[in-house]
Order: sequence, then C-alpha cells, then structure tokens
Amino acid sequence: MINHCSGLNHKHSSEKTLFNKILVANRGEIALRIMQTCREMGISTVAVYSTVDAESMHVKYADEAVCIGPALSRESYLNIPRIIAAAEVTNADAIHPGYGFLAENANFAEVCDSVNIKFIGPTAAMINQMGDKNTAKATMIAAGVPVVPGSPGLVTDLQEALEITKRTGYPVIIKPTAGGGGKGMRVVTEDSQMEKALNTARNEAEQSFGNSGVYIEKYVENPRHVEIQILSDQHGNTIHLGERDCTVQRRHQKLIEETPSPLVDEALRKKMGDAAVAAARAVNYEGAGTIEFLLDKHKDFYFMEMNTRIQVEHPVTEERYDVDLVKEQILIAAGDSIKDRNFVPKGHSIECRINAEDPEQLFRPSPGQLQVFHTPGGHGVRVDSHAYASYVVPSNYDSMIAKLIVTAHTRDEAIARMSRALDEFIVVGIKTTIPFHKQVMHSPAFQSGEYDTSFLESFRYEKK
Ligand code: ADP
Repeated sequence: MINHCSGLNHKHSSEKTLFNKILVANRGEIALRIMQTCREMGISTVAVYSTVDAESMHVKYADEAVCIGPALSRESYLNIPRIIAAAEVTNADAIHPGYGFLAENANFAEVCDSVNIKFIGPTAAMINQMGDKNTAKATMIAAGVPVVPGSPGLVTDLQEALEITKRTGYPVIIKPTAGGGGKGMRVVTEDSQMEKALNTARNEAEQSFGNSGVYIEKYVENPRHVEIQILSDQHGNTIHLGERDCTVQRRHQKLIEETPSPLVDEALRKKMGDAAVAAARAVNYEGAGTIEFLLDKHKDFYFMEMNTRIQVEHPVTEERYDVDLVKEQILIAAGDSIKDRNFVPKGHSIECRINAEDPEQLFRPSPGQLQVFHTPGGHGVRVDSHAYASYVVPSNYDSMIAKLIVTAHTRDEAIARMSRALDEFIVVGIKTTIPFHKQVMHSPAFQSGEYDTSFLESFRYEKK
C-alpha cells in the first residue's frame, strides 16, 4: 500500500553530519519546521502523510514522501510498523518525531533502536521514566526538585483520596497519569464531590489515554505556568535556556507563550534553571526537553511534568537565545557535545497560536478551505505554518494552522509588534483565533503582565 513518490531534492549546505536522511514522523507546521533545518544542514528529508494530508506543505517540501494510510491517526501517524516501513524503504537513518503523535512513545523509540534507525530524542528508558507523570514526580522528589504536594502514587480508592486531601487541604486536582493536552483533569473542592469526580476522571482517562491511572495534587491557586527549556548531550552536559511563560491558557491548553516571563527575575530564573537541570540529570537525559513548573504568588515553584520532546512554543526560546533547537536536537542525536555552547538571551519574544477555531462560538473547530492566507512580515516577525491559499484545513487533526512569533527589545514593544502583525495576518475562508489574540494584546490585563492561569476565564471577548 506504500505509495512512494519523489519530491524536490535540494541540498544547500556542505556541513558534515552523521545523518544522510531524516524521516519526519509528523505533519503540519512542525514537520515543515524540522525539514527546513534539515535542508540547511544538508540532510535529505522524508515526509510521511495520511491520504487527507496529500496536499499539505510538509509533503510538497520534503525530498521524498510516503503515504502511510488513511486519515485516522491510528492508521497513519500513530502506526509504528507503517512508519518504520517508510523509513526502511527510503533508507532513512534517523527519525524525528516532532511533538504529539509518537513523540513520547517509548515503544516507538525502542522499535527505532531495534532496526538501527536513530530516534531523535531520548531513549525509551528515559521516556518511560518521565512520560508517566506519576513516576516522574517520584523521580523528581528523589532528585530534590520541589513537586506539587499530593498522592504518593496512583489513587484508586475513595478512602485513600479523602486521606490525601486531609493532608493537602482543598482544592485538589485529579490528573490522569498518562495525560496530555490539558485533558481529563478535575478540580475538587470538598469531600462530597470526591467519589463522583474520582470515578469520572478514571473513566475519562481510560477513554482518552487507554490508562485509567489518576493521581491527586493540591490545586495551586492563582498559579502561572512557567517552563524551562533544557538541552542535554550524550556526554553528561546539561544546560538550560531560560523560561517560557505559558500562563495564557484556555481549558488548560496554551494559547500565548512568551519569554522572558514578566514575573521571573534573574535570581528566580537561576533557581528554576538549576532545578530543571537537576531534573534532567536525575534521568541522565539526552536531547531537548522541557520541565514544566507551576509558580505560585509567593514565587514558590513546583514541578508538574517533563516533556521529552520539542514543544509547540519552542520558537520564542529560539528567537530570544538565537538558537535553532531542532538543529541542536539533531546534533545531540549525532553525538555532538554542547560543552562549549554559550547562548546569550536578548529581547522579548511572544507567540500566538493561530487555530482554525471560532472565538465567537466557544472556539469551535472551523476546518475548511483557505481562500486567502496572507502572512505578516517585517522586522522581528516569524510565521511557522504549513498553510497556504487554497489549502484545505482537515477536520481530523489539531486545529493549529500557524504560529505567529514576534521579537523586540522589550515586552511593550513585542506586544505592539504582535498587534500590528495580527492586523496584517489575513485569513479568509475559515474562522481563526486572530481576532481573539488582537483583543488580548490590547487588554490592559495582558499588558500589565499580572495574571494567572485563569486569565481567559474572566476575559471578555467582544464579538464583532
Ligand atoms: P497536560 O500534560 O495535560 O498539558 P499539565 O500537567 O501540563 O497537563 O497541566 C496543564 C495545565 O493545567 C497547567 O498549565 C495548569 O494551568 C493546570 N494545572 C495542572 N496541575 C495543576 C495544579 N496542581 N494546580 C493548578 N493548576 C494545575
């Protein structure tokens, strides 16, 4: 069933690399983003795609492309045998998993290893230690990294749940151990709600993640989401590249990210950076990773989870630190040392996620054909996107169609730049989050920098 077709073939650089050809096991903007770096490094690329993505930019851009099945992710982007077959048939010597899909799947990393294809990311053992959130918390406690107080392990029983809340106090949050994308979390404020919440959370976790395991955490009130980017090589060196503030969320899902955080000063950055480096060292980590923390109003921070992959919001760090994180991932996978790397931060960078969603209809997905897709440009503006005029946004996958990233000297200048770039971003044919972001940029609350993860709950979007 493999339909192997040839695409463009460009090599622009003579830079030496251990990889000749990288298969990108992903779609959309991140697949394209990874291939752009490969092209700069002189590495050939292979795209994989589902039938519904045949016209996607990542397929057109790749040197070779292999159709791996129908739209259903299970049959294509999550189908390990088909992806491995595509890599073997094209002779790829490495696979970059991007984010989502198989990026944090230890089994996939293991299968790659068993067929001598380098998985660009940590080993299966490292993913196992960090992928399961509850195990990760236990590892962090052992490494001396502060974690949110809560259950020592998974919770199955009502009595046990009530015992835990006696120690932590209410409110608490029930979280799926295999969770991701802000799904399946439940806040509980009193004993009488616990039984129902526990059962529903377990059922939902089973449905969404095929794993009913849940754990309980103290619900940190009015927190900010601040995460630290780290890089670790195969020689025991780990560095951090500062923080990203991802506090602007809708239903626990990030919408706007920035660096530096308006709330983090140099002393706190050092403390959080040191904790993140300790976290990575605790599992002998290899590759790019992100340690996510909640920061409370006393500026105490707590480990939440580690993402063992490139993050959606990585470009803000790239812009502030003048680094290509995908290139670093590839070099680390090839055995390079980061010992002598010195990344110097400069300026302020903000990212808005442009989703095919209707902000007037509770962010309902808005798939369909783009009639006009005009992206902004000019000084300090970057657009990461696989979309183009006439492209049809499929309804089968994530609704993000672009990331708009701006960089300027100060936060105020970055906000002004983001506002003008959003004004220049014209999408006709579907609804997007662009008008919503414009209003956020103009709001005094966002401009003040003083808000918490509940910011959007009280934000009033003015319908046009
Ligand atoms: P996921 O992996 O599903 O994205 P996370 O553990 O990263 O889940 O949490 C996503 C968001 O949920 C956080 O950024 C935060 O807004 C909220 N959250 C998670 N745990 C807590 C907690 N203990 N207290 C308060 N908010 C939390």
